[in-house]
Amino acid sequence: MKIIVTAGPTIEPIDPVRFISNRSTGYMGYKIAEMASRRKHAVTLISGPVKLRSPEVKQFIQIETAQELLRTLKTEIKKANCLIMCAAVSDFRLEDTAKRKIKRKKGLSVKLIPNKDILKELSLHKKSNLFVGFSLETEDLVRNSCKKLKSKNLDLIVANKLSKTHNPFGCKCLDVVIIDRSGRKIYIRNKSKTYISQVLLDKIEELWYQKR
Ligand code: C5P
Repeated sequence: MKIIVTAGPTIEPIDPVRFISNRSTGYMGYKIAEMASRRKHAVTLISGPVKLRSPEVKQFIQIETAQELLRTLKTEIKKANCLIMCAAVSDFRLEDTAKRKIKRKKGLSVKLIPNKDILKELSLHKKSNLFVGFSLETEDLVRNSCKKLKSKNLDLIVANKLSKTHNPFGCKCLDVVIIDRSGRKIYIRNKSKTYISQVLLDKIEELWYQKR
């Protein structure tokens, strides 16, 4: 299969040196890309800025902003069988980015405007390819993730719980639930991101070869 994996955060500039972003490390997406490549899939890894070395993949593309990611995906999706959207896309960007470094002053107000929902935007033109999303929820994990699966027209969603005792950012072992369109669920408890990647890829391959 031709698989696109997006990983890491996007960053949204305030001025040439400052930006807003999030805590994504990119580790989950990089693991999925590595495991998919080892299975001989042709992988395009599209990554925001992270501190990881790229695994061996067919193509590696670096992006910074959500708008850049959307632009890149609009081209790449035409060649792909599957999109695994693991990137933590910034929901907002600045309405106006300063061209020069903003000088220190007593206070600073910035106006944030929403970025497009990339999965929703791309799924408008979805054909036979598979779309996989991730969700991070603090409550009603399964119900909220199922809603997201429907609203973003996904084939699978990987639902992560965020709580005081379970923080998926940067942590090595996770509890996740993988949910498909018919509501079937695979519960995975306290397993490595490598293990989760393998289960997810098994499920993707099963769905893909069922369609053939
Ligand atoms: O709606 P929420 O941000 O919780 O959904 C998470 C999923 O949607 C992830 O797969 C993420 O990559 C994707 N996403 C997106 N465009 C955005 C925000 C999130 O495609 N603007």
